[in-house]
Amino acid sequence: MSVIAAISTPNAAGGIGIVRVSGDGAFLIADRCFRSVSGRKLSGMKGYTAAFGTVFDDSGDIDECVCIVYRAPHSYTGEDTVELSCHGGLFIMQKVLRAVLSAGAVPASPGEFTRRAFLNGKMDLAQAESVMALISAQGTAALNASRNTLEGAVSRKTEEISGLLLSAAASLAAWADYPEDDVPAVEGKTLGETLSAAEAQLSRLIDRCDSGKAVTEGVRTVICGKPNVGKSTLMNLLTGYDRSIVTSVAGTTRDVVEETVRLGDVVLRLADTAGIHETSDEVEKIGVSAAKKRLENADLIIAVFDISRPLSEEDEELLRACRSRRAVAVINKTDLMQELDTRTIGEYIPETVELSAKSADSADTLKCAIEKILGVDETDFTQEMLIGERQRQCAVNALSFVREALGALNAGLTLDAVNISIDSALGELMSLTGKRVTEETVNEVFAKFCVGK
Ligand code: GDP
Repeated sequence: MSVIAAISTPNAAGGIGIVRVSGDGAFLIADRCFRSVSGRKLSGMKGYTAAFGTVFDDSGDIDECVCIVYRAPHSYTGEDTVELSCHGGLFIMQKVLRAVLSAGAVPASPGEFTRRAFLNGKMDLAQAESVMALISAQGTAALNASRNTLEGAVSRKTEEISGLLLSAAASLAAWADYPEDDVPAVEGKTLGETLSAAEAQLSRLIDRCDSGKAVTEGVRTVICGKPNVGKSTLMNLLTGYDRSIVTSVAGTTRDVVEETVRLGDVVLRLADTAGIHETSDEVEKIGVSAAKKRLENADLIIAVFDISRPLSEEDEELLRACRSRRAVAVINKTDLMQELDTRTIGEYIPETVELSAKSADSADTLKCAIEKILGVDETDFTQEMLIGERQRQCAVNALSFVREALGALNAGLTLDAVNISIDSALGELMSLTGKRVTEETVNEVFAKFCVGK
């Protein structure tokens, strides 16, 4: 494989900048553009040692540099690797990178260092995905979840579930081998128990992932309500600054304004939408249909009501839209006289908070309600956590195959049918960790990475 190189530190000025070079021949390439003070060549140095010197190109010296040598397989990628640490100026970094490329390296594509780590067996696909989650973690819970996955917690759990399925498959084989014996009755029970255990473990993994998503990727959230209930004021309270125009003229929040906010450990991907109401204004209509779409696709609805006005037809329409959805009802303007019948709201949306969006402490009240409804307050983020939609989908598919196997077993279908479902479930778990995965999936995973990682 070719020797790849990229700037691994952020694309901005900093105290130190690092160019990473990896692949068979990395030392020879680095030796062509680095001269150590001691006169030692990098290619003659042991792994985990460093040399101080100067990095240069055809036109002369570029900067002082510390080179760290990692020898295969004891590096991030599993290949021979050199990290050149220089002063972290953007211009310097680009010049150092160019010097390394002229010496024979090729530019690394996004995530290529981690992709090589995966291909060289340094980590599995679930661990590779956690690298990006770790980098983008915005809170302690997200950090714990992604670090656990990087350390292999998801991989170990997946192995454990696969182990159960393999033992179920083994009991099936025993059953098929001794059709005359009375093994079937005993084995049948064990088989069902084993499959049920796998089912329970998969379900737990998926449930935890749903709460985990709230802290890793963020929850798609909409703030809905009729005009003037205080949606923009609430949005501003959450974002901490004036993001959308707050006004007392009905219908001025015409577009969907988006913002990502962190509320405790939960990340909300917020949209403040125009109210869902009938309107004749053309511009406003566009906002209203965008609001309906957002509402349909949201993971969480913050439905806002005005305590100073009686329940209207529009409020009721929103309540109906929230039925059996994950929603929090915010009964706003508690500083005003109550005209609203709040009991009706509670009948549709069990999680209800009363607050004034104009008061700063209301963010905390809402945070508690949101954490509760997302199950974040009860989730142990130090346990294994699936990261990302791909991992979740593999687990969901595996679960449905396990349920299919259980169904086939209980319905007394042929053992072959049970076996096929178990096999499919195992296949899903293998693609979760990348043991059996298509090139296309691997490409998709690494396409989300940044260059230099
Ligand atoms: P939207 O149309 O739902 O986005 O509502 P706005 O956020 O624009 O608020 C409409 C009006 O209600 C503005 O004049 C706000 O200042 C006012 N408002 C918002 N929250 C409160 C509150 O808690 N108490 C009171 N008294 N007024 C509020």
